Amino acid sequence: MALPINLPYVLPDLPYDYSALQPHLSAELLELHHSKHHAAYVKGANETLERLGDAEKWQVPGLEQSLAFHIGGHLMHSMFWECLSPDGGGAPDGELGAAIDAEFGGFNGFKERLSDALTTIQGSGWAVLGWEPLAQRLMIMQVKDHHGAHVVAARPIIVADGWEHAYYLDYRNEKEKWAAAFFELADWSGANERFSAARKVPASV
Ligand code: MN
Repeated sequence: MALPINLPYVLPDLPYDYSALQPHLSAELLELHHSKHHAAYVKGANETLERLGDAEKWQVPGLEQSLAFHIGGHLMHSMFWECLSPDGGGAPDGELGAAIDAEFGGFNGFKERLSDALTTIQGSGWAVLGWEPLAQRLMIMQVKDHHGAHVVAARPIIVADGWEHAYYLDYRNEKEKWAAAFFELADWSGANERFSAARKVPASV
């Protein structure tokens, strides 16, 4: 039986209008971020796959880096849009809320840790709340670019874009204001669904 393959990659529509996240994110920033930056990762992933199809073996390592970067960028942004909502904000309830309380001593402690992770990224990267399946615990990670320096098997629950294109148009160098805006937009109901799905994976890798 053939495996399902959703190729070529396509840019997903946003689940809300470009103006829906104002005043926390401007329509201009959101349109640029989605229609230019995310679109470039989709294009890059498809172009790299085409080149990989034709490549001699000696070319593959460079293309694998390109593939990890562009597919990583596509996947991270696809999840990022789902992490934001015009009706977001507040704090999670349910299983995720309880797990955050247990791991970080309460929502405020978690918010401080994730904000620190977002604002202290050197260069380009993401702050991620992930579920580590072996120890069965939540952890905060900084992902370099779209695809590096994180725990590979940890499943992302919440991803916050720390690249300059994610905030600079609206917040300039005040990255802590972007961290605060992210928490005004964070969609915890979707996060709770991702958390439930992640916890169904047995405690192994
Ligand atoms: Mn981005």
